Amino acid sequence: MSVTEYDVVIIGAGVSGLTAGAVLAALGFKTALVTTGEPTACLSTGCIDFCSRDKNPLQALQNLPPEHPFHLVSPKLIRESADNFQTAMKEMGIPYAGSLYENRNVLSALGTFKTTCLVPATMRAAPQSGEDALHIITFTGLKDFYPSYIISRRRNTKFSVYDAGVSSTMGIAAHFEDNNFLESFLVWLKGENISADKLAFPAVLGLGSAVQIAETIALRLGRPVFEIPTIPPSMPGRRLFNALKNNYRKKGGTIYWGWPVTGIEKSGKIIEAVSTASRGRPNSLNARAFILATGSFVGGGLVAGKETITEKIFNLPVHVPGPREAWFNNDYFSFNHGIGKAGIIADSKLRPKGSPWENIFVCGGILANTEILKNGCGHGLALATGHAAAKSCLEYIR
Ligand SMILES: Cc1cc2nc3c(=O)[nH]c(=O)nc-3n(C[C@H](O)[C@H](O)[C@H](O)COP(=O)(O)OP(=O)(O)OC[C@H]3O[C@@H](n4cnc5c(N)ncnc54)[C@H](O)[C@@H]3O)c2cc1C
Repeated sequence: MSVTEYDVVIIGAGVSGLTAGAVLAALGFKTALVTTGEPTACLSTGCIDFCSRDKNPLQALQNLPPEHPFHLVSPKLIRESADNFQTAMKEMGIPYAGSLYENRNVLSALGTFKTTCLVPATMRAAPQSGEDALHIITFTGLKDFYPSYIISRRRNTKFSVYDAGVSSTMGIAAHFEDNNFLESFLVWLKGENISADKLAFPAVLGLGSAVQIAETIALRLGRPVFEIPTIPPSMPGRRLFNALKNNYRKKGGTIYWGWPVTGIEKSGKIIEAVSTASRGRPNSLNARAFILATGSFVGGGLVAGKETITEKIFNLPVHVPGPREAWFNNDYFSFNHGIGKAGIIADSKLRPKGSPWENIFVCGGILANTEILKNGCGHGLALATGHAAAKSCLEYIR
């Protein structure tokens, strides 16, 4: 078995784990992040929801129920986490617009509005009401994007269809990175003689250069351009993930990709190492502290069995919201779905309550009582608790 020593090992490559890792790596700690695979960010719109329940997200999250994990993070640290995120994303070439003091709207592929806080710059020009006349550009064969859904909800909306030669979001996005493709597209687009206030695109305007591509189109057509998030695979979600990953690596952090953590080595009240299943031979990653950032059910951090819900790596106590009947609802997306409260309860230092070990910290979607869908607080909570867990962890190892 190969053994490697770190100051901190973070488990999970979602928004919370990559954020905690970047904070620690930037301070010079020897940090490894180990992950089974991609996070839920890749399924998301790429927008950062802090709390969508009111006009002012910072105010709204302070009004969440007392057991909500946002109350474990001070308003100052929540503001810092948003500021640091915006600075890092700008450096990584995917700037975000918006502020923690005001929620805004993003037009969805259904023609409805999603309320969110920080948005990729490519969505900055999204209409905030039903007034603007829009012209949607879609692509031949592009699956799961139907301009008619949007047109049925908005007056003054038209659309055109371009044949990009490929029909997947990734394929079209890759084509937009090619200057020759972009130039022929622009020639076609000018020929459409569009008169609407704004141009709307499904989110396929490039892999990493979307901001520049959207700006080029806006400049050449003389009107604002914005992207509409599509269902997975979501390009803005992938851009967010790649930028967080690159930011963490730039700060000096190491990533072990495709290595599910399958076991632990412990001594008294201390976890000494986690072991991972990796191709070829098992590996053991020793550290002075560990941050658990494995997400909720979709991320793989929580597993629901017949009678109970478990956290598989450290077997931490899981808060289960009432009897099994309470976990179900015919509508999975119901805001009051009981399962939204399941997770790990943490203390003020982001240590799991009731855990026998003193060197574990926890952050992100695996925390209990988040009700992410109901409160609209996904990536924002992951950023804030990722920062808070990193801060507690560094106090501990210092
Ligand atoms: C479909 C969908 C759309 C969403 N859209 C949005 C949105 O638009 N805006 C928003 O703000 N929020 C959104 N959310 C919520 C948001 O994605 C999450 O709340 C947040 O990103 C959770 O991040 P995380 O870091 O805690 O965990 P995750 O993103 O769940 O990441 C968990 C990580 O842990 C790894 N892992 C799990 N088990 C192990 C193991 N045993 N060993 C090693 N690694 C392991 C996984 O591979 C993964 O990398 C959405 C959620 C879903 C499911």
